[in-house]
Amino acid sequence: MNLEKEFALARDSHDPLASFKNRFYIPPAAVYLDGNSLGLMSVDSEKSIIRAMKEWKTRAINGWLEGEPPWFYLAEETGSMAHTLVGAKKEELICTGTTTVKLHALLSTFYKPLKNRKKILADELNFPSDIYALKGHIKLRGLNIPEDLILVAAKNGFLEEKEIVRLMTPEVALIILPSVLYKSGQLLDMAYLTKEAHERGIIIGFDCCHSVGIIPHEFDEWGIDFAFWCSYKYLNAGPGSPAFLYINRKHFPLEPLLAGWFGYLKHKQFDMLLDFKHAQNAGGWQISTPPILGLASVKGALSVILEAGIKNIRKKSIQLTEYFINLVDQLLPSGKFGIKIGSPRNAQQRSGHVALIGKDNFYQVFSALKARGFMPDFRPPNIIRFAPIALYNTYLDVWRTVNTLKEIIDKLEYLKFPQKRLEIT
Ligand SMILES: *Cc1c(COP(=O)(O)O)cnc(C)c1O
Repeated sequence: MNLEKEFALARDSHDPLASFKNRFYIPPAAVYLDGNSLGLMSVDSEKSIIRAMKEWKTRAINGWLEGEPPWFYLAEETGSMAHTLVGAKKEELICTGTTTVKLHALLSTFYKPLKNRKKILADELNFPSDIYALKGHIKLRGLNIPEDLILVAAKNGFLEEKEIVRLMTPEVALIILPSVLYKSGQLLDMAYLTKEAHERGIIIGFDCCHSVGIIPHEFDEWGIDFAFWCSYKYLNAGPGSPAFLYINRKHFPLEPLLAGWFGYLKHKQFDMLLDFKHAQNAGGWQISTPPILGLASVKGALSVILEAGIKNIRKKSIQLTEYFINLVDQLLPSGKFGIKIGSPRNAQQRSGHVALIGKDNFYQVFSALKARGFMPDFRPPNIIRFAPIALYNTYLDVWRTVNTLKEIIDKLEYLKFPQKRLEIT
């Protein structure tokens, strides 16, 4: 019977990824369930950062060519390490800068409004930062909000792909969607959406912050035009670590208009010429000097994921979230406790976390969980997200989490906590 603790222990003892837990620093006495917001530090990342610091200490400026690997090529090298995770060619990837800045850089190239084809199609559930960037670019080009930004409306908290396709009208110049919706964890069918967009002559790009590192992708096969994602969530590279950008190689000749000297033809960058000629690969979309310490962290973090294998990670992640949902269904039945599963029940449409939607007291429930050492996160108005991570969470973590949640609610333990939210939840 899977309600028993022994069931969880037995699953853990047969888990082929179990040993990876020792590669991570887990906050003391905690069950960490927030790897979808900030992945934990691995020993590999730590070592890699220390090594880069040592190079800075001992080699100073010479690190650019004499570092191991040389800092000058680190953005290209680290980017290309992700090629098997996303199904891309090495030269279609670069790692530097940050997520939202990447989106701005991509929009500078890919948003080309014409008289009768000038709108951007996005969705109302996307991460707000993306929408701010889209609005900025629409205004920069003298166009108007809301006319020129179509936001697909959600139905019952989810997006319907058919509805997105219905809105792909001849006026749409560009589509920007998340691979996974950050609140519900709904995974969109990127292959299908790309096919439909291209049949209508529309460029399409994806924000993959919530999917790379946990779900295998096939960008080239699907033919998507571009993508971008951060490295501090499922990729575990640390707060503010550099982001990735993917550009389909058919677009390499297009001009990066948010240009900077690190995007220059690599072997001629230090000729310091004023006429900008961009590298004919994803590197052309770099802007500034890459953050070497951050890249060192990404390199270490990625090596762990590659070693574990993205398919194995996805498999265990699905098993953990299925188990979580199953326990909630049994221990906290919706009719009795008013808690609903806010993520797709079909595992193929779900990413790495499970959202629970509660009642007005749910922020207090969240605070009570934290006081007991459980670390999920809270998204207003009444969602708690639980991300059991394949590389460092166990079946026992899931068992303890749902049982504790039940206790907190059953015994009204949450009443001891204030309703007012902290700045970061
Ligand atoms: C986390 C996240 C971001 C983060 O943007 P930053 O510029 O790195 O702060 C952007 N988009 C989505 C969908 C995210 O989940």
